Amino acid sequence: MRTVFLPGGEAVPCLGQGTWYMGDKRSAAKTEADALRLGIDLGMTLIDTAEMYADGGAEEVVAMAAAGQREKLFVVSKVYPHNASRSGVPAACARSLKRLNTDRIDLYLLHWRGGYPLTETVEAFEKLKTEGKIRYWGVSNFDTSDMQELGGAACAANQVLYHPDSRGIEFDLLPWCEKQGIPVMAYSPLSHTTSRLLRSPALNEVARRHGVSPAQIALAWGLRHPHVISIPKASNPAHVRENAAAGSIALTAVDLATIDAGHKPPLRKMSLDLL
Ligand code: NAP
Repeated sequence: MRTVFLPGGEAVPCLGQGTWYMGDKRSAAKTEADALRLGIDLGMTLIDTAEMYADGGAEEVVAMAAAGQREKLFVVSKVYPHNASRSGVPAACARSLKRLNTDRIDLYLLHWRGGYPLTETVEAFEKLKTEGKIRYWGVSNFDTSDMQELGGAACAANQVLYHPDSRGIEFDLLPWCEKQGIPVMAYSPLSHTTSRLLRSPALNEVARRHGVSPAQIALAWGLRHPHVISIPKASNPAHVRENAAAGSIALTAVDLATIDAGHKPPLRKMSLDLL
């Protein structure tokens, strides 16, 4: 698995696993944890979750998947903006640690910008870092101006929506993050509901050329940037296997031109797409 470097120099896999909607149904938790374990075996050892997902249920599924192999994993979780205060951050982190059944979160993100001053949230993150409860902190759904406001703070990643039908970040946010050495974590890399994106004639044409699926092409496309980490969510083991294999697909200039023709790159600043 190719790796991406965090600002501190630590390498993480370019492909991880999402968990949104996991933990929603108790009866599905074992299947979901098994899917994550399969993904871990295939090298997708970065796992993204959040206190928001299934009201903490997704973090519990991650704990099931991590049992006996926590050391292998890079666990990302997120704090709600309404918990992002001086006292709210440590309390939310403590709840997440308990559900995750671990003593530290590798990367803790502010899920999106809310009402608390960024300086207050960053201060709380830094305190958690000093206490060893988180190893790095970062943000999510931050546009370029938000990142600029964060300034030289030690942000380890920005997690944003990025797939072939939502590529506005290529105009300014992606180059800005690249220049600062801050990885971009592409969420919903299959466009969340998949149905429309995976019918794309451009993705299907490139997929036929490589003998792979359009989903794999969508993932390989995001990963063409050396500082992008992609976090597809898959509960179906066949999907997990496909996704892990997408990390080794090298798209050609002709492939990229085919995709550009069907999914236009941005020609001007676009406001950040959110899901
Ligand atoms: P996604 O990963 O783009 O798509 C997930 C859907 O794609 C599921 O229905 C999954 O089905 C299906 N799928 C997975 N692999 C496939 C394949 N190879 N072929 C066909 N279908 C496939 O959507 P997402 O869950 O919205 O995004 C991924 C992760 O990003 C989330 O789970 C979450 O961790 C994170 N996220 C973060 C934010 C944020 O605000 N920071 C927002 C959205 C998402 P099965 O499950 O049946 O396999």
